[in-house]
Amino acid sequence: MERLQKVMSQAGVASRRKSEDIITAGRVEVNGEVVTELGTKVDPEQDTIKVDGQQIKREKLVYLLLNKPQGYITTVDDPHNRRTVIDLIQDVSQAVHPVGRLDKDTEGLLLLTNDGDLTYALTHPSHGIDKTYMATVKGVPNQSKIEALEKGIKLKDGWTAPAEAKLVAELAERAVVSLTIHEGRKHQVKRMLKSVGHPVEELKRIKFGPLDLTGLSPGEYRHLTNSEIKELK
Ligand code: URA
Repeated sequence: MERLQKVMSQAGVASRRKSEDIITAGRVEVNGEVVTELGTKVDPEQDTIKVDGQQIKREKLVYLLLNKPQGYITTVDDPHNRRTVIDLIQDVSQAVHPVGRLDKDTEGLLLLTNDGDLTYALTHPSHGIDKTYMATVKGVPNQSKIEALEKGIKLKDGWTAPAEAKLVAELAERAVVSLTIHEGRKHQVKRMLKSVGHPVEELKRIKFGPLDLTGLSPGEYRHLTNSEIKELK
Protein backbone atom coordinates (compact mmCIF):
# COMPACT_ATOMS: atom_id res chain seq x y z
CA MET A 1 0.00 0.00 0.00
CA GLU A 2 1.22 3.50 -0.74
CA ARG A 3 0.20 7.00 0.14
CA LEU A 4 -2.33 8.44 -2.25
CA GLN A 5 -0.32 11.59 -3.00
CA LYS A 6 2.73 9.48 -3.89
CA VAL A 7 0.73 7.34 -6.31
CA MET A 8 -0.72 10.50 -7.86
CA SER A 9 2.67 12.12 -8.35
CA GLN A 10 4.09 8.92 -9.83
CA ALA A 11 1.22 8.87 -12.28
CA GLY A 12 2.28 12.32 -13.41
CA VAL A 13 -0.79 14.11 -12.01
CA ALA A 14 1.25 16.76 -10.15
CA SER A 15 4.03 16.97 -7.57
CA ARG A 16 3.36 15.27 -4.24
CA ARG A 17 2.81 18.66 -2.65
CA LYS A 18 0.30 19.79 -5.30
CA SER A 19 -1.39 16.38 -5.18
CA GLU A 20 -2.07 17.00 -1.49
CA ASP A 21 -3.92 20.18 -2.39
CA ILE A 22 -5.91 18.28 -5.02
CA ILE A 23 -6.86 15.65 -2.41
CA THR A 24 -7.94 18.16 0.24
CA ALA A 25 -9.96 20.02 -2.39
CA GLY A 26 -12.10 16.88 -2.72
CA ARG A 27 -11.13 16.20 -6.32
CA VAL A 28 -9.98 12.61 -5.78
CA GLU A 29 -12.05 9.42 -5.65
CA VAL A 30 -10.78 6.02 -4.60
CA ASN A 31 -13.08 3.17 -5.66
CA GLY A 32 -15.93 5.60 -6.10
CA GLU A 33 -15.56 7.40 -2.74
CA VAL A 34 -14.27 10.95 -2.43
CA VAL A 35 -11.14 10.95 -0.25
CA THR A 36 -9.89 14.11 1.44
CA GLU A 37 -7.67 12.49 4.09
CA LEU A 38 -3.97 13.00 3.28
CA GLY A 39 -2.68 9.86 4.97
CA THR A 40 -4.92 7.57 2.90
CA LYS A 41 -3.13 4.43 1.70
CA VAL A 42 -4.05 2.86 -1.59
CA ASP A 43 -3.04 -0.16 -3.61
CA PRO A 44 -1.94 1.32 -6.93
CA GLU A 45 -2.43 -2.02 -8.72
CA GLN A 46 -5.93 -2.76 -7.38
CA ASP A 47 -7.66 0.49 -6.47
CA THR A 48 -9.38 2.71 -9.00
CA ILE A 49 -8.19 6.26 -8.47
CA LYS A 50 -9.86 9.14 -10.24
CA VAL A 51 -8.89 12.80 -10.29
CA ASP A 52 -11.65 15.11 -11.47
CA GLY A 53 -13.47 12.01 -12.64
CA GLN A 54 -10.55 10.76 -14.77
CA GLN A 55 -8.84 7.52 -13.91
CA ILE A 56 -5.09 7.81 -13.36
CA LYS A 57 -2.59 5.29 -14.66
CA ARG A 58 0.58 4.27 -12.94
CA GLU A 59 3.27 5.28 -15.37
CA LYS A 60 6.86 4.18 -15.44
CA LEU A 61 9.00 7.16 -14.49
CA VAL A 62 11.26 8.35 -17.29
CA TYR A 63 14.09 10.88 -17.24
CA LEU A 64 15.40 12.33 -20.48
CA LEU A 65 18.36 14.58 -21.14
CA LEU A 66 17.81 16.66 -24.27
CA ASN A 67 20.20 18.93 -26.12
CA LYS A 68 17.61 21.56 -26.97
CA PRO A 69 18.15 23.29 -30.30
CA GLN A 70 17.33 26.97 -30.76
CA GLY A 71 13.82 27.72 -32.03
CA TYR A 72 11.87 25.42 -29.73
CA ILE A 73 9.88 26.65 -26.78
CA THR A 74 10.03 24.94 -23.40
CA THR A 75 6.38 24.15 -22.76
CA VAL A 76 4.24 21.11 -23.33
CA ASP A 77 1.54 22.83 -25.41
CA ASP A 78 1.61 26.13 -27.18
CA PRO A 79 -1.62 27.97 -27.97
CA HIS A 80 0.11 29.58 -30.97
CA ASN A 81 1.22 26.21 -32.38
CA ARG A 82 4.92 26.99 -32.17
CA ARG A 83 7.39 24.09 -32.04
CA THR A 84 7.91 22.84 -28.50
CA VAL A 85 10.62 20.63 -27.03
CA ILE A 86 8.01 17.86 -26.75
CA ASP A 87 7.94 17.68 -30.57
CA LEU A 88 11.54 16.42 -30.40
CA ILE A 89 10.67 13.42 -28.23
CA GLN A 90 9.56 10.65 -30.56
CA ASP A 91 9.72 7.20 -29.01
CA VAL A 92 8.60 7.85 -25.42
CA SER A 93 4.99 7.03 -24.56
CA GLN A 94 4.96 8.74 -21.14
CA ALA A 95 3.75 12.34 -20.90
CA VAL A 96 6.98 14.09 -19.97
CA HIS A 97 7.35 17.77 -19.14
CA PRO A 98 10.42 20.02 -19.08
CA VAL A 99 12.20 20.65 -15.76
CA GLY A 100 12.44 24.43 -15.66
CA ARG A 101 12.81 26.36 -18.88
CA LEU A 102 15.18 27.63 -21.49
CA ASP A 103 14.34 30.56 -23.73
CA LYS A 104 13.30 29.83 -27.32
CA ASP A 105 16.66 31.07 -28.63
CA THR A 106 18.71 29.26 -25.95
CA GLU A 107 20.33 25.96 -26.79
CA GLY A 108 21.50 23.17 -24.52
CA LEU A 109 20.81 20.89 -21.65
CA LEU A 110 17.19 20.37 -20.68
CA LEU A 111 15.79 17.59 -18.53
CA LEU A 112 12.36 16.16 -19.25
CA THR A 113 10.49 13.78 -16.98
CA ASN A 114 7.09 12.65 -15.77
CA ASP A 115 8.37 12.64 -12.17
CA GLY A 116 6.51 15.56 -10.62
CA ASP A 117 8.37 15.31 -7.31
CA LEU A 118 11.77 15.57 -8.90
CA THR A 119 10.62 18.50 -11.02
CA TYR A 120 9.35 20.28 -7.93
CA ALA A 121 12.57 19.63 -6.02
CA LEU A 122 14.88 20.68 -8.85
CA THR A 123 13.03 23.87 -9.69
CA HIS A 124 12.49 24.98 -6.11
CA PRO A 125 14.78 27.97 -5.41
CA SER A 126 16.03 26.40 -2.16
CA HIS A 127 17.36 23.35 -4.01
CA GLY A 128 20.07 25.39 -5.69
CA ILE A 129 21.28 22.97 -8.31
CA ASP A 130 24.18 24.49 -10.28
CA LYS A 131 23.53 25.30 -13.92
CA THR A 132 26.36 26.37 -16.19
CA TYR A 133 25.82 28.53 -19.27
CA MET A 134 28.15 29.59 -22.07
CA ALA A 135 27.21 33.02 -23.30
CA THR A 136 28.56 34.78 -26.36
CA VAL A 137 28.33 38.46 -25.47
CA LYS A 138 28.87 41.80 -27.17
CA GLY A 139 32.20 43.33 -26.20
CA VAL A 140 34.80 41.88 -23.84
CA PRO A 141 34.01 42.12 -20.10
CA ASN A 142 36.92 43.26 -17.94
CA GLN A 143 37.88 41.69 -14.63
CA SER A 144 35.71 44.01 -12.57
CA LYS A 145 32.62 43.03 -14.59
CA ILE A 146 33.44 39.35 -14.07
CA GLU A 147 33.77 39.99 -10.34
CA ALA A 148 30.47 41.87 -10.28
CA LEU A 149 28.75 38.89 -11.93
CA GLU A 150 30.25 36.63 -9.26
CA LYS A 151 29.34 38.80 -6.29
CA GLY A 152 25.80 39.61 -7.33
CA ILE A 153 23.94 41.89 -9.68
CA LYS A 154 21.03 44.09 -8.74
CA LEU A 155 18.17 43.15 -11.06
CA LYS A 156 14.64 44.49 -10.88
CA ASP A 157 13.59 41.41 -8.88
CA GLY A 158 16.48 41.74 -6.42
CA TRP A 159 20.16 40.87 -6.06
CA THR A 160 21.41 37.69 -7.66
CA ALA A 161 23.12 35.12 -5.44
CA PRO A 162 26.89 34.58 -5.69
CA ALA A 163 27.80 32.87 -8.96
CA GLU A 164 30.89 31.69 -10.80
CA ALA A 165 31.92 33.65 -13.86
CA LYS A 166 34.86 33.20 -16.23
CA LEU A 167 36.04 34.86 -19.39
CA VAL A 168 36.54 31.82 -21.62
CA ALA A 169 37.46 33.39 -24.97
CA GLU A 170 37.99 36.78 -26.53
CA LEU A 171 36.82 37.13 -30.11
CA ALA A 172 36.67 40.17 -32.37
CA GLU A 173 34.33 42.57 -30.52
CA ARG A 174 32.73 39.76 -28.57
CA ALA A 175 33.61 37.27 -25.89
CA VAL A 176 32.52 33.96 -24.46
CA VAL A 177 31.68 33.98 -20.77
CA SER A 178 30.80 30.98 -18.65
CA LEU A 179 28.37 31.61 -15.83
CA THR A 180 27.30 29.10 -13.19
CA ILE A 181 24.19 30.03 -11.24
CA HIS A 182 21.92 28.07 -8.96
CA GLU A 183 18.89 30.28 -9.17
CA GLY A 184 16.46 30.06 -12.06
CA ARG A 185 14.83 33.40 -12.60
CA LYS A 186 13.33 34.24 -15.94
CA HIS A 187 15.99 35.35 -18.47
CA GLN A 188 18.45 35.52 -15.57
CA VAL A 189 21.70 35.03 -17.48
CA LYS A 190 20.71 37.48 -20.21
CA ARG A 191 19.64 40.05 -17.63
CA MET A 192 22.83 39.68 -15.58
CA LEU A 193 25.10 40.12 -18.57
CA LYS A 194 23.06 42.98 -20.00
CA SER A 195 23.25 44.80 -16.71
CA VAL A 196 27.07 44.77 -16.82
CA GLY A 197 26.95 46.17 -20.35
CA HIS A 198 27.49 42.96 -22.34
CA PRO A 199 24.24 41.80 -23.95
CA VAL A 200 24.01 38.12 -24.82
CA GLU A 201 24.07 37.18 -28.49
CA GLU A 202 23.99 33.42 -28.04
CA LEU A 203 23.31 31.28 -25.02
CA LYS A 204 23.86 27.61 -24.35
CA ARG A 205 23.39 25.63 -21.13
CA ILE A 206 26.19 23.10 -20.89
CA LYS A 207 25.72 21.67 -17.38
CA PHE A 208 22.87 20.92 -15.01
CA GLY A 209 24.12 19.63 -11.65
CA PRO A 210 26.22 16.54 -12.42
CA LEU A 211 24.95 16.24 -16.02
CA ASP A 212 26.53 17.52 -19.21
CA LEU A 213 25.90 17.20 -22.94
CA THR A 214 28.60 14.69 -23.84
CA GLY A 215 27.65 12.79 -26.99
CA LEU A 216 24.46 14.72 -27.77
CA SER A 217 24.09 17.01 -30.78
CA PRO A 218 21.32 19.62 -30.77
CA GLY A 219 17.95 17.85 -31.09
CA GLU A 220 19.25 14.56 -29.65
CA TYR A 221 18.28 13.10 -26.30
CA ARG A 222 18.96 10.06 -24.15
CA HIS A 223 17.57 8.41 -21.03
CA LEU A 224 19.43 9.08 -17.80
CA THR A 225 21.16 6.10 -16.19
CA ASN A 226 19.98 4.87 -12.79
CA SER A 227 23.02 6.33 -11.08
CA GLU A 228 22.45 9.73 -12.71
CA ILE A 229 18.86 9.68 -11.46
CA LYS A 230 20.08 8.87 -7.94
CA GLU A 231 22.57 11.73 -8.04
CA LEU A 232 19.81 14.21 -8.89
CA LYS A 233 17.50 13.10 -6.08
N1 URA B 1 18.96 32.52 -18.54
C1 URA B 1 18.47 33.13 -19.63
O1 URA B 1 18.54 34.33 -19.77
N2 URA B 1 17.89 32.37 -20.57
C2 URA B 1 17.80 31.03 -20.49
O2 URA B 1 17.27 30.38 -21.40
C3 URA B 1 18.32 30.41 -19.34
C4 URA B 1 18.89 31.19 -18.38
